[in-house]
Amino acid sequence: MNAKAFNPFEMAQAQFDKVADLLQLDPGTRDLLRNPMREYAFLIPVRMDDGSVKVFRGFRVQHNDARGPGKGGIRFHPHESLDTVRALATWMTWKCSVVDIPLGGGKGGVICDPHNLSAREQEQICRGWVRQIARVIGPLQDVPAPDVMTNAQHMLWMLDEYEKIHNGHFPGFITGKPVGMGGSLGRTEATGYGVVYTVREALKQLGIDPKNTIASVQGFGNVAQYAIELYTKLGGKVICVSCWDQKDQTSYTYRKKDGVDLKGLWGITDRFGGIDKEKAKQLGYEILPGDAWIEQEVDILFPAAIENQITGENVNKIHKRVRLIAEGANGPTTPEADKVIQERGIFLIPDFLANAGGVTCSYFEQVQCNMNYYWEKDEVLQKLDTKMTSAFLAVAELARQRKLYMRDAAYVIAVNRVAQACKDRGWV
Ligand code: NAD
Repeated sequence: MNAKAFNPFEMAQAQFDKVADLLQLDPGTRDLLRNPMREYAFLIPVRMDDGSVKVFRGFRVQHNDARGPGKGGIRFHPHESLDTVRALATWMTWKCSVVDIPLGGGKGGVICDPHNLSAREQEQICRGWVRQIARVIGPLQDVPAPDVMTNAQHMLWMLDEYEKIHNGHFPGFITGKPVGMGGSLGRTEATGYGVVYTVREALKQLGIDPKNTIASVQGFGNVAQYAIELYTKLGGKVICVSCWDQKDQTSYTYRKKDGVDLKGLWGITDRFGGIDKEKAKQLGYEILPGDAWIEQEVDILFPAAIENQITGENVNKIHKRVRLIAEGANGPTTPEADKVIQERGIFLIPDFLANAGGVTCSYFEQVQCNMNYYWEKDEVLQKLDTKMTSAFLAVAELARQRKLYMRDAAYVIAVNRVAQACKDRGWV
């Protein structure tokens, strides 16, 4: 599927407009919230291993910080664009708000493909990104984190560069750091587990025992892997995963009808969440086209790869058995497809609620950094479960009371809180 078919920022604005109407927001508040407050686009020159200089494009967008410092990941992706970063920054504002943590929305990115970069080159991109933006980000302004194709090592290089520039220790500058270097236990699992905490609650409301459910997953990266782990622990069965094949430059779905084996798959997966096709065949997986994940006869769909994957073109392929869609990825559903899902009465857990576990744990990481005291993993996950569950229940309750689609109910709660903060500060 073509990830560039839709402009994600237009999609984020369309979603916002719908809620602004529902909330009857005044024109000033609308104008403020449908656009990012600050945007930075810059160049990062890097001396490559072969001695040449390559110039990379970097971005940071701060959508809104009325409720607290900006917060959001940095993506390394060959198709990164300012509009993608704008959309993701906007969603971060709603995400922090819907789980009621005192942070705003930001996002960053670099147009690059880490598959084709050495570790040294990636380090130079990280350090160069920080040098360009160090004056306008920080623990009290805007706090970056890992996202697609960035990890704890990238965060540590960025922290090191930031601390050199500002001459001190600022572990709260960035989250997703390695454990032992200011990172929080549980961060690796947080987003995927968070998705499943909300799925568990949704299934309770639908009166379905997770043990009687099967699921299909798009993606096999950080979010998907830990969602599968916890969902499987609850007794659910995942029959397929779909991921990108770097060598063939296409995606494939790997299916095993009696349930995928997470440990076996881990052994044949690279650090980008790509599965070795030949080894998967040897382990007995059927290899299907990349979008086959969407048409499986399952109860739950977990789109947990990238944006714009459930579209007007393929939404009708969703099997009639599907009762629940949990959006692990950001923006996986286009507005056209969203309408169909709503009309079909499929219970949807929207992205900025379902995948808020990552940012919630990042917030916990900041809190621990500030105290210089680190919690045990069980404590982190318990607190995460509490936060995700209460956010889910508040959204589901509003949806029930006002007969709203879950996405709209989540937006109403999130946008209302941010609009109120802007108003209380006297901005609008
Ligand atoms: P990742 O890089 O670890 O994994 C991405 C996965 O998607 C890989 O398995 C990749 O092969 C697959 N993929 C990429 N393009 C594909 C395609 N066209 N078809 C099928 N599979 C494809 O990323 P991640 O951290 O797991 O993030 C996944 C999504 O979740 C993204 O939308 C990200 O913004 C969002 N998200 C991540 C976090 C987090 O904490 N990691 C938090 C919130 C939201």
